[in-house]
Amino acid sequence: MALTATRPQLAHLTTVLDELKAKGTYFRLRVLEDQQAPVCHYDGKEVINLASNNYLGLANHPKLIEAALNATRDLGVGSGAVRTIAGTMRIHMELEEKIAAFKNVEACVVFQSGFAANAGTVSAILGKDDFILSDELNHASIIDGARLSRAKIKVFRHKDVEHCEELLREVAGEPGHKLVITDGVFSMDGDIGPVDKLGALAEKYGAIMMVDDAHASGVLGRNGRGSVDHFGMHGRVDVQVGTLSKAIGALGGYVCGSRDLIDYLYHRARPFLFSTSHPPSVAATCMAAFDILEQEPERIDRLWENTHYFQNELRGAGFNVGGINTPNTETPITPVILGEGRVAMDFSRALFEEGVLGTGIAFPTVPEGKARVRLIVTSEHTRAQLDQALETLERVAHRMGLLQ
Ligand SMILES: *Cc1c(COP(=O)(O)O)cnc(C)c1O
Repeated sequence: MALTATRPQLAHLTTVLDELKAKGTYFRLRVLEDQQAPVCHYDGKEVINLASNNYLGLANHPKLIEAALNATRDLGVGSGAVRTIAGTMRIHMELEEKIAAFKNVEACVVFQSGFAANAGTVSAILGKDDFILSDELNHASIIDGARLSRAKIKVFRHKDVEHCEELLREVAGEPGHKLVITDGVFSMDGDIGPVDKLGALAEKYGAIMMVDDAHASGVLGRNGRGSVDHFGMHGRVDVQVGTLSKAIGALGGYVCGSRDLIDYLYHRARPFLFSTSHPPSVAATCMAAFDILEQEPERIDRLWENTHYFQNELRGAGFNVGGINTPNTETPITPVILGEGRVAMDFSRALFEEGVLGTGIAFPTVPEGKARVRLIVTSEHTRAQLDQALETLERVAHRMGLLQ
């Protein structure tokens, strides 16, 4: 039987792909052939990997692998149902209790992904008479959750607390609930959200405060407790979202807050109600990861040392790693700003040919004219690997006329 080719009904998709190809922003998926590691193979080529979110090297930590294997042997590979029907295993409850204790909150609910946690929570706690005040650079999952909630969405300029207050004042007389929401760390620029100031503002106006700590989990705060800990905002953020898919090394997302918030989400969050829970191996892996955060804090120290070294060297070489008409990175996320989308994509491809993997990112993920190659170092990169990557970045950039 012939494979199904694109029929005329879907011809408009082909048109869009052709447009991407003309703009130079069409991509093919690079395929990882071995483990997610500082040096690994994509499409058969050995590269220094500066593209993953595996900040602490936990994606292949021996203790996490052992935890996954043991849980699989003892409990099987699947949970068999959604959480509310028959798919809540003891290990799911243990993971939630562990995260709640780590984050110093009453309760926690785990979702299948960070995306599901954000989209499922925002859409569940707000309705059409409510208002969402959202940073313009917040993650797509927040935007989707906001749209699904049918609340009125007010977007404030990036990290602009005064603009957020202006918008709050505009709706202060309205009867609906208000939610102020920000990323703890912004995923494209690496800057830190003003969680302290927005939290104080939310209190002043009686608004709900929510933070998405996907890139802050395991990176910011004591032992990687996140932006709320970083800013000393314990007890003042109503909804804390985190991911288990980045520094934690496995897969999933979670929401931390009061017992009632979590009970409510058990009853109303649609990804929780309508999508099957994690395999036990994933829950076991995540539990082991939180132990590592407590037992091996030197990983986080190494992450920051590598970050400072790498970013200083890049700046010294003349790269724009943010700060000129773009936010300034304050975390391991390192944007090398290049301008045009095609240039960023060409630079990323040329780096790959020379053995360095960095993600080319263009419009619409970042604004037009702010295309970049995004680099993320991990705690596990050696100084020699970073030096080799730096040498390659400089050499390729000079060859392409991107550096003076
Ligand atoms: C990655 C990311 C998410 C989604 O997390 P997943 O667990 O990968 O689904 C949500 N918010 C932000 C800011 C992110 O960077």
